[in-house]
Amino acid sequence: MRRRECAVTPGRDTNDAVDDGASKTLQTPPGAAAAELQCQLGGTGASPSPYATLGPVPDLDNRRFCRACETTLPLEAFPPGTRRYLCRRHAWLRVKKPSKERALADPLRRLVDRLWKRGWDDAQTAFGHPRVALRQADIAGLLPEGGGGGGGDKPLAIVPADPIQLLSNENVVVVGMDVRRRLLRAYRAGGANMYLAELGKLGRFG
Ligand SMILES: [Zn+2]
Repeated sequence: MRRRECAVTPGRDTNDAVDDGASKTLQTPPGAAAAELQCQLGGTGASPSPYATLGPVPDLDNRRFCRACETTLPLEAFPPGTRRYLCRRHAWLRVKKPSKERALADPLRRLVDRLWKRGWDDAQTAFGHPRVALRQADIAGLLPEGGGGGGGDKPLAIVPADPIQLLSNENVVVVGMDVRRRLLRAYRAGGANMYLAELGKLGRFG
């Protein structure tokens, strides 16, 4: 492969990358790979952050450098869209996973997550449903305003309005946990009829 005619910038301590012109293999040693990245990015000793800007460097031989793997990988290993020097796995680890963790630090998202999981558990164990047809995004829209902020501290749950049908955006009621317990007990004792009767006692809802 003819690559690396871009000389590694002197002065940086990527000094183990002096094997310029050597035929490169898959198993590029980290130091040389970093130097290649530096080379690809056109970085200089004066700009120590080589990741700041990604120049229009073509992918060579359908391979691209992953700066976390510190080697080149086939293009298929990279997410489509904007070219970044992070393979799918590392993009997930560094971008998506932390964003999921950040999301769960948000009280509303945490509440939604909890409601969905409980709804899923109930679907399986109490109603014998194979799945729920309700997305987490649907749940946020069901909550009273500020529902995530903890204004009302009453623990909430989501249950199907009709226990025979899958829990869905059209078949869902937000209730307190105490009501949920009564509903599940009623369903165990008397099936859908008793469940609906118990739900009817709540008066207007939805
Ligand atoms: Zn990687």
